[in-house]
Amino acid sequence: MTPRHHNPGNPIRLELGGEKITAFSISALSTYALLPELNCAFDMGDCLLEAVPIDRVFVTHPHGDHTRCLFRHEALRRLMGMPPPTYYVPEETREGFVQLADAWRRLERVRDANFTPPRIEGLKAGDVVPLHRQLSLKTFPVHHTAPSLGYTLFDVRKKLKAEYHGWPGAELARLRREGVAFEEESWLPRLTFIGDSTIQTLYDQPHVGESRVLFLEVTFLLDDERELAQRRGHTHVDGLVKFLRDCPDVLRNEHIVLKHFSMRYDKATIRSVLKAKLPAGFMERVHIMI
Ligand SMILES: [Zn+2]
Ligand SMILES: [Zn+2]
Repeated sequence: MTPRHHNPGNPIRLELGGEKITAFSISALSTYALLPELNCAFDMGDCLLEAVPIDRVFVTHPHGDHTRCLFRHEALRRLMGMPPPTYYVPEETREGFVQLADAWRRLERVRDANFTPPRIEGLKAGDVVPLHRQLSLKTFPVHHTAPSLGYTLFDVRKKLKAEYHGWPGAELARLRREGVAFEEESWLPRLTFIGDSTIQTLYDQPHVGESRVLFLEVTFLLDDERELAQRRGHTHVDGLVKFLRDCPDVLRNEHIVLKHFSMRYDKATIRSVLKAKLPAGFMERVHIMI
């Protein structure tokens, strides 16, 4: 029987540490996370109308459940007279997305002489994208079966260098006029979004544990699915349990959103398996995205 537990048109609305997020993520069906106040989104497996005004989409990897509605997003913006969006994708996949955008355009016979294609930018691990003066994003490598990037949003704040602490305002104003660099930037990790991934990413990228909010996948939950999880490049809940035992101090996030569960589980199964397997102290910080 076809599973009918999940509906990508009916998102989960989260408010975590002041962050308003509209999201959906079920394996093979659809994944997207919209942050309208930050004017960015992660993945576009479906395109809600409320996603249309968002100018920037960061794509974790090319699988269809994360990307299928990217050019639907572009087409809706075009129809509504909005400027072309910018799509950020793993560098190795850029050419494929450019060709896909072009194929859609030809298929739909877009005739607008003033048509401007969406900007599609390839990113490598370690790249930084400034979103505005006080917000930047940095990429990191993710283990999956396709080229994949994780994304961390940082609040960027200016602060006084230690040697200028306690200096009066008038003196600092003078230094500013003289062009003395008395400030330095501090980068505070705000939100990390990991798309599809094996548990290995957490071992290799422990910095993800410092973000206030962390999105993590746990696709498989049942005891006989460990090998399947490995083969498909996903995380099994037992892998997460082992990681929490191996590295108990890494995930210090205030909020951890678990997502991308296999389509075949109903919501009660997801809740009861997670509750039974994951430590109670960890579950206190967990939001189950169903
Ligand atoms: Zn997926
Ligand atoms: Zn995938």
